[in-house]
Amino acid sequence: MKKLLVVAAAVTSLFAYADTYPSKPISIVVPFSAGGPTDRVARDLAEALRKPLGGVSILVDNAAGAGGSIGANKVAKATPDGYTLLLHHISMATMPTLVRNIPFKVETDFEYIGMVNDVPMTLIGRPSLPAKNYKELTTWIGQNKGKINLGNAGVGSASHLCGLMFQTALGVDMTTVPYKGTAPAMTDLIGGQIDFMCDQTTNTSTQIEAKKVQAYAVTTAKPLTTPALKDLPTLQDMGLKGFEVTIWHGLYAPKGTPADVVAKINAALKVALKDADFIKKQEGLGAVVVTDKRIEPAEHKKFVAAEIAKWSPILKAAGVYAD
Ligand code: ASP
Repeated sequence: MKKLLVVAAAVTSLFAYADTYPSKPISIVVPFSAGGPTDRVARDLAEALRKPLGGVSILVDNAAGAGGSIGANKVAKATPDGYTLLLHHISMATMPTLVRNIPFKVETDFEYIGMVNDVPMTLIGRPSLPAKNYKELTTWIGQNKGKINLGNAGVGSASHLCGLMFQTALGVDMTTVPYKGTAPAMTDLIGGQIDFMCDQTTNTSTQIEAKKVQAYAVTTAKPLTTPALKDLPTLQDMGLKGFEVTIWHGLYAPKGTPADVVAKINAALKVALKDADFIKKQEGLGAVVVTDKRIEPAEHKKFVAAEIAKWSPILKAAGVYAD
């Protein structure tokens, strides 16, 4: 009898908890610097989630560093009460292979809430690079072997993955310069301190449009239709067979977050992803908002597992690790 009462009390408090959630500000951890592409998606999403979550404040917490693993670890270890969430990208699938002593488990330390968007990448260079198009760029690379540097957001980041694939495809080693996110890397690229970067269109399209950087190619199989990017060739068309990197973002909570709370956040996410303003902002920057089954937590989890399986052999073959 006593046992039954304890179970009943626990169930009641769980429902009561979900009933009143959210009753205080929610924080979305972004594992990269403010002003970068992941940060931008998180801030737009926070705005779109606010109304369906009852008007609660949603704050963005930039816990940047170590290719996105510091922020992810912060959420993995946070109280599982629905007030600390993580917005992360393809790094959730590359970190398990690229970071040797990763302090958390992507597969088991999170509740998967749903996916947010898919984002192409672009190969961009400093404004002073003499190469004006991709063909001239390959000639310039050939002439400057050993002197070229490439910015990225640390081992395991999307820019690291894309830069790694680019170097492997060309068979040229470049010196990588890691930052806490591609916002500071972009500042240095514009300033000419680094030569190249491969980054999300959500960070690059406005700089390309403003002619602050030079754009050479997109990483998708087909050309893009976004006005700022529509004249760029694909790396496949430029001869890099099979080169395709599209990154994605998903929303996570710490493992153990009550199922009802996860369901509430998922329902709010579904509303946010249909928000006309959110869609317009994302599409304007070249991103595609998720409308398929990956919006469901179980499908989100399945997709990330498939991405880990897809990238792991490719990254192992490249042989780059961080501790
Ligand atoms: N674009 C970055 C990356 O390469 C992350 C960021 O600053 O949002 O992963």
